[in-house]
Amino acid sequence: MTTFTTEDKDRALAGAELMSDKGYEEAYLADVIRFKMKRDKKRFWAGDNISEYILDERMKEQLIDEATEAFETVLDRLLIDRETDPNSKGTARRLAKMYFNEIMAGRYDPSPNATAFPNDSQDRYEGLLVVRSELRSMCSHHHQPVVGVAYIGIIAANKLIGLSKYTRIAQWCARRGTLQEELANDIAREIERATGAKDLGVYIQATHGCCENRGIMAHSSLTQTTVLKGAFKDDPGTKKEFFDNIKLQQEFAPR
Ligand SMILES: [Zn+2]
Repeated sequence: MTTFTTEDKDRALAGAELMSDKGYEEAYLADVIRFKMKRDKKRFWAGDNISEYILDERMKEQLIDEATEAFETVLDRLLIDRETDPNSKGTARRLAKMYFNEIMAGRYDPSPNATAFPNDSQDRYEGLLVVRSELRSMCSHHHQPVVGVAYIGIIAANKLIGLSKYTRIAQWCARRGTLQEELANDIAREIERATGAKDLGVYIQATHGCCENRGIMAHSSLTQTTVLKGAFKDDPGTKKEFFDNIKLQQEFAPR
């Protein structure tokens, strides 16, 4: 439990009503934010970005402190001695930091800013562009790793973004709790937003820790998902070129 300053309360709630009769003093910041998101009817599923509610690093630090406390309870309930086991001493904080700063960073960080360059001169690029992006994600059901590659194809519209931005956007979408089907849609939507391209395709192949480390224990089980829009969907030539490009990429760099 933390006592918040008036400033914290103002920043967190930005004019919201009191969250409970107890007032703010006994509230976790995470509860205050959750209250605010519910009030705003903001969806906060594992795959959703909620960065607009985390105003600065100080708030994120506070959330990490609170999650540390919660992970300590989880370890206690698992009957793991975090007091004398040297390897488990800092585990609760490591887990909290890892969730916020690494494996779920795409929920808490704002979208990578992708500067768009005009593609409207005489010699504008009109071909297909296919970018291969390595992905690390995790399933929202078991919080197990999802590891794979996304191939993002577009026919450039009137603007272009730097090549590394495709991967940055894909990884920002991936670093959340996701389903692979949902992830392919998220990447397609964000690439469309950043480039303005209406003709695009996203193909993902990935292995899932929840199938490999538990359950069916199937090693090297591969899941493939595809999202096609515009010409990628309607024009067989474009669709074929996209998948031919993927094959070429895979020959160049087998995953
Ligand atoms: Zn799973």
